[in-house]
Amino acid sequence: MSEIAIQRHGLMLVLSSPSGAGKTTLSRLLLEADENISMSVSVTTRAPREGEVDGRDYFFKSTEEFGLMRNRGELLEHAKVFDNYYGTPSAPVNEALAKGRDVLFDIDWQGTQQLMETANQHLVKVFIMPPSGQELEKRLTKRALDPPEVVAARMDKAWNEISHYTDYEYIIINDVVEESMKKLRSILRAERLKRERQIGLANFVRGLQQTL
Ligand code: 5GP
Repeated sequence: MSEIAIQRHGLMLVLSSPSGAGKTTLSRLLLEADENISMSVSVTTRAPREGEVDGRDYFFKSTEEFGLMRNRGELLEHAKVFDNYYGTPSAPVNEALAKGRDVLFDIDWQGTQQLMETANQHLVKVFIMPPSGQELEKRLTKRALDPPEVVAARMDKAWNEISHYTDYEYIIINDVVEESMKKLRSILRAERLKRERQIGLANFVRGLQQTL
């Protein structure tokens, strides 16, 4: 059975959470499961972690390079998180959206607030909560990529991130990953059906009218 394809404007799916709440796992699973969404790769001044690849996980930049990109207006949003700068390059996002592809953002509450000012109509904001503080600490420690003082700093900052949850339209408490994935995919499925995102509808309806 072939489905009628209506031209769509891409949406911007923002996932925010404190570090360690499982956002990276959920993002990876979503990207594997859904071929119409791609990740926005941010620029950052922080050092790469073991296993991170330049251009895939982040574009790793010096503070000077980051400043230049920001001053040239090449970033859709940017913020300082844990003493490092992070930002979203605009060009790949705009290209994807225009083609009707969706873009996934792993950014913090500060970046989300900036996107709310400039691109609110395209945003779908999802906040991922850890099931408990103990579980968050366990996940941060198990990750074992950061030294203990970094884990402690991230625990301290978790509340700072969580306290902004009211900026988000959807909240997922990430206890069982498979359940969280189902919720995330339902959100995406419904949001794609919103009338204003289906920019080809007017054409379709005109054609429909002629056949009535
Ligand atoms: P990490 O250093 O663990 O990769 O990321 C730390 C925090 O920075 C995470 O909360 C992540 O969502 C946020 N982050 C990553 N990239 C960006 C970005 O481009 N913009 C903003 N505002 N936050 C980002």
